[in-house]
Amino acid sequence: MNAPQSYRVGVVGFGIAGGAAAALLAGAGHQVTLIERAETIGPVGAGLLLQPSGQAVLGRMGALDEVTAGAERIEALHAVQHTGRSLIYLPFAAAGDGMAAYGIRRSALFDALTRRVHNSGVTTLTARIAHQILEVGDDLWIRCEDDDPLGPYDVVVVADGARSALRDSLFGTRHSRAYPFGVAWAAGPCSTVRGELYQVTRGTRNLVGLLPLGGGQCNLFWSIDLSEIEATKARGFEQWKAEVIAVCPIAEELVASLAGFQDIVFGGYHRVSLKSWRKGSVLLIGDAAHATSPHLGQGANLALLDAEALFSCLGRSESLEADLDRYIKLRRRHTRFYSAVTHLMTPFFQGGHPVLGHLRDSSLPYLPLVPGVRRQMARIMSGVFCLSHIEHR
Ligand SMILES: Cc1cc2nc3c(=O)[nH]c(=O)nc-3n(C[C@H](O)[C@H](O)[C@H](O)COP(=O)(O)OP(=O)(O)OC[C@H]3O[C@@H](n4cnc5c(N)ncnc54)[C@H](O)[C@@H]3O)c2cc1C
Repeated sequence: MNAPQSYRVGVVGFGIAGGAAAALLAGAGHQVTLIERAETIGPVGAGLLLQPSGQAVLGRMGALDEVTAGAERIEALHAVQHTGRSLIYLPFAAAGDGMAAYGIRRSALFDALTRRVHNSGVTTLTARIAHQILEVGDDLWIRCEDDDPLGPYDVVVVADGARSALRDSLFGTRHSRAYPFGVAWAAGPCSTVRGELYQVTRGTRNLVGLLPLGGGQCNLFWSIDLSEIEATKARGFEQWKAEVIAVCPIAEELVASLAGFQDIVFGGYHRVSLKSWRKGSVLLIGDAAHATSPHLGQGANLALLDAEALFSCLGRSESLEADLDRYIKLRRRHTRFYSAVTHLMTPFFQGGHPVLGHLRDSSLPYLPLVPGVRRQMARIMSGVFCLSHIEHR
């Protein structure tokens, strides 16, 4: 569907948010340039949980079958304590008949987005690090390191991720905070977990997640304290493997397939919280606008929803300003909700507070027994809570 008004759009960052936004906006008739700092387009990390909310966006883009081909249908979240005691078994179907998530390979999502970016006529510039947005009259220009400014653009969409340097230069650094902890993740064969996201906790100190990705492979997540990465490496790979298996014995097949720390990606997470995502005709989307920890598995899904909402607003009203305000109105409630809930629940799963771990272990098994709560928990997990009727068609 072509937008009545066509704009010159500069998109910074070919991640999930930027890739989806660029493809959708170019498909609607806007003139789009996508600027990415990496030389080769591609994902960091192996897999992610594609929620019903993100599936709906990909479905409307005609990309869902492609992305989920060979992926694993995830029917439930199943969390247990390291003692084996069950904490929660929460089926996605409790949110609505037939609902499920998918454990997908990030590469499958990137391939689908890349195809659409190319086919929709987006100009893609790689190996360009955008570091400043300049306003000259009504036009915007993007200055990249060692290059003449790119542009002119009517609107710049900043989708350069949680550590967005452009966001910091536009809004200051006080809106972003790094958590002191993060994750070590890896993928490999795992025949023991099928059809569910399986998590094992030991207090709030250890968390192991196994997300099936299809084809007998799983993504492993192991919580880490960022200050201990070097010490972990110094203790050696065999010791690390033993620590993971001690908490989650069924991860043994996967960790046994890893040759060393080179097979593991270590990463931290950020929380970004801004009053507004726009400054003039510059708009932040995806993690650049509202990064959270990944404990609810929503970030990529929020990024897809952002891209689609922008597509449904840009060029549709009397002015660019009104389009961008409408976008913010459309996305504010849902995004704020997920950002707040994720931030509140994060210390119950990671951070080493024993009291919070105890509170979680003593309350989580009983919460779904409260009438109505199980369904709402499943809706939150599915990413559809607080979605406006426009976004959740
Ligand atoms: C361990 C872990 C597990 C996760 N699991 C899930 C999950 O199961 N489900 C889920 O929905 N989400 C998950 N997430 C979150 C999800 O990965 C992010 O929310 C999502 O990738 C955000 O997409 P984005 O496009 O906004 O940012 P990014 O994916 O970070 O993309 C930003 C892009 O911008 C580029 N860039 C950066 N700076 C510049 C610059 N100056 N100039 C040009 N280009 C630049 C980068 O190279 C990158 O390509 C997880 C995150 C982590 C860390």
